[in-house]
Amino acid sequence: MIKGTVKIASEICKGCELCIVACPQDSLQLSREINLRGYRYAELKDDNCTGCINCALVCPDSAITVYRMPKKSK
Ligand code: SF4
Ligand code: SF4
Repeated sequence: MIKGTVKIASEICKGCELCIVACPQDSLQLSREINLRGYRYAELKDDNCTGCINCALVCPDSAITVYRMPKKSK
């Protein structure tokens, strides 16, 4: 199994929500805070990202970097 996580450049994000809609895991949400440009920005809400990279592919501003790592077996 692959475990993933994302790093979102909050100051680049314009809160368009395309990544939130595109995430099959429902892992993303808009922040309560706003960035310096006045937008709420995308952030990870749940630790269930699979690293599928859908969010990074749809982001028009390339604000998302996806990291993938093997899931530790229990
Ligand atoms: S990499 Fe996939 S699962 Fe992870 S936040 Fe992005 S769309 Fe969701
Ligand atoms: S798709 Fe990109 S610009 Fe739009 S909310 Fe997500 S991270 Fe922000």
